[in-house]
Amino acid sequence: MTVTADAGQLLQAGLDQTPCLVIDVDVARAQYERIAAAFAGAGVHYAVKANPEPPLLRALVAAGCQFDVAGRAEIDLCLAAGASPADLSYGHPIKKSEDIAYAYARGVRMFAFDSEGELDKIVQHAPGSSVLCRVLASSDGARWPLSRKFGCVPEMAAELMKVAALRGLDPAGIAFHVGSQQLHPDRWEPSIATAAWIFKVLEQSGITLRILNAGGGFPVPYRTPVAPIADFADSIYAALGRHFGHRLPSLMIEPGRYIAAPAGVLHTQVVLVAKKSYDDEPRWVYLDVGRFGGLAETEDEAIQYELSTTRGGPAGPVILAGPTCDSVDILYQHAPYDLPLDLAAGEVIRILGAGAYTATYSSVGFNGLPPLRTVVLP
Ligand SMILES: *Cc1c(COP(=O)(O)O)cnc(C)c1O
Repeated sequence: MTVTADAGQLLQAGLDQTPCLVIDVDVARAQYERIAAAFAGAGVHYAVKANPEPPLLRALVAAGCQFDVAGRAEIDLCLAAGASPADLSYGHPIKKSEDIAYAYARGVRMFAFDSEGELDKIVQHAPGSSVLCRVLASSDGARWPLSRKFGCVPEMAAELMKVAALRGLDPAGIAFHVGSQQLHPDRWEPSIATAAWIFKVLEQSGITLRILNAGGGFPVPYRTPVAPIADFADSIYAALGRHFGHRLPSLMIEPGRYIAAPAGVLHTQVVLVAKKSYDDEPRWVYLDVGRFGGLAETEDEAIQYELSTTRGGPAGPVILAGPTCDSVDILYQHAPYDLPLDLAAGEVIRILGAGAYTATYSSVGFNGLPPLRTVVLP
């Protein structure tokens, strides 16, 4: 990950006690500025779940970022960081009634939903609020796909938006999410076409939608390059032009990974280098962080982080595993990874691009291991 490879401080801090995630807020702010520039005019809502560290949120507030939140704690963190409730969108389509009421009491007025039951809750606990209906989207091409858990079919979205209007809510727009670490800029277009159809259908019923929330999914280069963010913006704006013509909706995006991932380096130590027989290849390398300590996205080897060691020298293939007693705690056994031939216990390995979906995913005490410690650079 080139964004962090030359950030000296990021590589040196936190070495006293591993594992440790080191976050450089300046890198996250630069990523925000990059994506906000590419999507000029769009509302950029950082998906807080990617990394909710307070100094990171404060820097993003100061830079003008808005936020996508998924629950009470995230709302509180954003407000404490100085965000205005008007800058928060409660984008999770499945919420407890109490949590909707809590958000409403704190001034949040934008809510997502994808079913009639959820709409009922919003009518009751957040009367008059603006709503975005989430439609099903294909996440083909995403390294971390989202399946059918969220979203409804377009016909249902159109009907539910009519219900929303009748029941005193503000039918604001349509939302979708094409899956995380989505490598293909053209994968937004089918959902943009769907949204345009819903806008048109509702116009015929006298309801004018105004917001298109194109979600997150913008990728970062872990071990392989990805298309520049401008390609994603170009592709999305071109699709908006094709499907909405002159009446462009106001665009909202919700990047999480793109902003947070490059800002983090996870420092880990080798616990053991082992062979299963004297002439076995490859070696097994057990680290002090694994699937349960924050590297959940290594499931199915979906996210393949770039590793960095302090020295060069000849390298050979390894299987990488975490420290716990669970046999699913293997990071990579199919993806090719090479580490120095003389790698030994105690050595530090840095996992680059680890700022998103790591610390928040780590278990609270499996095998007695503490949650992943985060250090934010001053
Ligand atoms: C998680 C999430 C995002 C962020 O996705 P990334 O792939 O990290 O950009 C955006 N929107 C919603 C609704 C989400 O749940």
